[in-house]
Amino acid sequence: MIDVDGAVFRPGEPGYDTGRDGFQLAGRHRPEVVVAAAGAADVRAAVEYAATRDMPVAVQATGHGLAVTAEHGVLVSTRAMTGVRVDVAARTAWVEAGTRWRQVIEEAARHGLAPLSGSSPHVGVVGYTLGGGLGLLARRYGYAADHVRAVEIVTADARPRRLVPGDELFGALLGGGGNFGVVTGMEIGLVPVTRLYGGGLYFPASAEIVAAWRDWTATVPDGLTSAVGLIPVPDVPEAPGPLRGRHVAHVRIAHLGEAAEGDRIVAPLRAAGPVLADTLRELPFTESASISNDPEAAHAYAGTGVLLDGLDPAAAFGLADPGAEVPCIVQVRHLGGALAGPSPALVGHRDARYVLHVVTPLDGRDPGAVRAAHRSLAGTLKGAGTFLNFQYGPATAEQVRAAYDPGAYRELVRLKTAYDPANLFRFNHNVPPAG
Ligand SMILES: Cc1cc2nc3c(=O)[nH]c(=O)nc-3n(C[C@H](O)[C@H](O)[C@H](O)COP(=O)(O)OP(=O)(O)OC[C@H]3O[C@@H](n4cnc5c(N)ncnc54)[C@H](O)[C@@H]3O)c2cc1C
Repeated sequence: MIDVDGAVFRPGEPGYDTGRDGFQLAGRHRPEVVVAAAGAADVRAAVEYAATRDMPVAVQATGHGLAVTAEHGVLVSTRAMTGVRVDVAARTAWVEAGTRWRQVIEEAARHGLAPLSGSSPHVGVVGYTLGGGLGLLARRYGYAADHVRAVEIVTADARPRRLVPGDELFGALLGGGGNFGVVTGMEIGLVPVTRLYGGGLYFPASAEIVAAWRDWTATVPDGLTSAVGLIPVPDVPEAPGPLRGRHVAHVRIAHLGEAAEGDRIVAPLRAAGPVLADTLRELPFTESASISNDPEAAHAYAGTGVLLDGLDPAAAFGLADPGAEVPCIVQVRHLGGALAGPSPALVGHRDARYVLHVVTPLDGRDPGAVRAAHRSLAGTLKGAGTFLNFQYGPATAEQVRAAYDPGAYRELVRLKTAYDPANLFRFNHNVPPAG
């Protein structure tokens, strides 16, 4: 018996299946119990139930970042915990564990503020931020994790704790993913942004255009954050005419400035090749999802993210071969600026210059074979480390370790051993306890 305000479902009961539904269809948790938590007290009750029975605990908000499926234990679904409270004077928002970025974007915009959200507003605030959180304004403001003011969490001893900067677990949580407990809410910093200059420039995909983008990134101010995606656009009627059936390079831009200045900065890039489509404009932050146009429908995918000290355009273009046995959508994001700054958050490799991310829609392909192909492709890049937010599906122990600077990884292991010695929270990009 678990005494909760939300609901508890066991296999076969109505509600069990919807309780474990998520965006990622490559796998699905199959726990002994789903706790659809209505609030922090329910989370505490679920963790206490699990801890007293030595049952591991999985957590799911949206399912965008499913790492390892739980085949037993307790799944805490935070989907119904969606409270958001903006403190205008403090420029912060208190968000409950199941909140998606879209809600915070809309609430914050009413007060002339914006959160450090990423390319998709459907992603969960907490999962994204625990993995660092690489957003549209990242080069100006750093990782979302750098702006967290307080975290409320239930640790493996079923104790609710409020953590603030200076507490030993605080920095480890912000970068260490879901390894230390179930976060019930978070106070995040907001920034005074209402409009930006942004959108996309589409070119025929080539190594030359990737090289032109890379060279251009060396010239842009920190207020401009950009990425390039190499995407095979399907030959279907819904695809925009000029892109339909083509392999395109989609440069995504978010610039904190006015259109005239943005146009001036972007001019050399616009001249770098034949532009198939150009959606750059001044836009309200509430429309920032249109910059990347990430998929909104649940599907099955696998992917990995590699942090790089430099970008080899031919190598990046080579990974994107649409005719490959495991075809990959490749995306490279420009890092630097405030991302390289000091922070209590244990996000690794802050001096990396780019993060390269490969994703393959599974479309019936064998996930294991796709992941092996990704690991092998990633190996050829000689990256500085892994970016775990872009690891879709299980990571190897080496990939997890490579996400952190060695001292930070040792600290994560020390804290994991102290706070979760039985590895209750293991269905994630796991940092196992020592021993
Ligand atoms: C389309 C798409 C776009 C994306 N864009 C970006 C981007 O721009 N920048 C970026 O940095 N990342 C991005 N991501 C990655 C995303 O941030 C991660 O996948 C993140 O883990 C998703 O969190 P979630 O809560 O939405 O997903 P979920 O699958 O619900 O959660 C993922 C994991 O986060 C942990 N977790 C979630 N909630 C809690 C909690 N309350 N307490 C403890 N642990 C918890 C758990 O380990 C859980 O398994 C994107 C992913 C997708 C699919």
